[in-house]
Amino acid sequence: MSRKFIVGGNFKLNGSNEFLTKLVEDLNKGNLDSNVEIVVSPPFVYLDKVRQSIRKDIAVAGQNCYLKSSGAYTGEVAAEMLKDIGIEWVILGHSERREIFKETDEEIGQKVAHALKAGLKVIACIGEKLDERVNNKTNEVVERQLKAIADSVSDWTNVVIAYEPVWAIGTGKVATPQQAQEVHKHIREWLHKNVSPNVAEKTRIMYGGSVNGGNAATLSKEPDVDGFLVGGASLKPEFVTICNARA
Ligand code: PEP
Repeated sequence: MSRKFIVGGNFKLNGSNEFLTKLVEDLNKGNLDSNVEIVVSPPFVYLDKVRQSIRKDIAVAGQNCYLKSSGAYTGEVAAEMLKDIGIEWVILGHSERREIFKETDEEIGQKVAHALKAGLKVIACIGEKLDERVNNKTNEVVERQLKAIADSVSDWTNVVIAYEPVWAIGTGKVATPQQAQEVHKHIREWLHKNVSPNVAEKTRIMYGGSVNGGNAATLSKEPDVDGFLVGGASLKPEFVTICNARA
């Protein structure tokens, strides 16, 4: 079966009114492959502005949301609130959330379940650190992170996995197509064995980590690479080249 290619732009803590107005204008004019699903993720305060101004074939994602619907959780944003302002997607479990904000596998699993229940689609990020790769722990780490998600999720229709090796994020050290394919295949096999053959076949697995306009086409040829989650390059004109990598 064919899985629709999906490209996400994670703007992280970047942008301003002026910068995002120009970025949206450029994307709106861009010649984008209509076979690709595109999702951009600006910081919370710009979500509504971007959603209202961006072309309708590009969806918008929050970069995080909390595991409760409301209450005394200062500084947090609920999945229901994203949904309420017309946001369709959320990125959860990004390695920066895991590392800097100390989110655990279990919290991420709960967040994924809560966001799905609230009606959002989820890009759930997993991936090993450099020392884990060097010590041959990559499969063990992604399995542990996947299990925490799988334990909380019963319907995978609205889940996309983003495999993002931490050593490749923002470092300019992209995984080789073989390295990416090897882990993506392992993730799919894990889903086949531990969730279901149908979920394994249908769930899209994005690669993230130093994807740019120069390496995207080669990576996109791997059979289990179903898209990209892009950080730095999503703020640049080359994002269009990445979105069109399979065209
Ligand atoms: C990311 O933050 O999800 C990411 C992949 O970043 P970059 O493309 O800059 O490595």
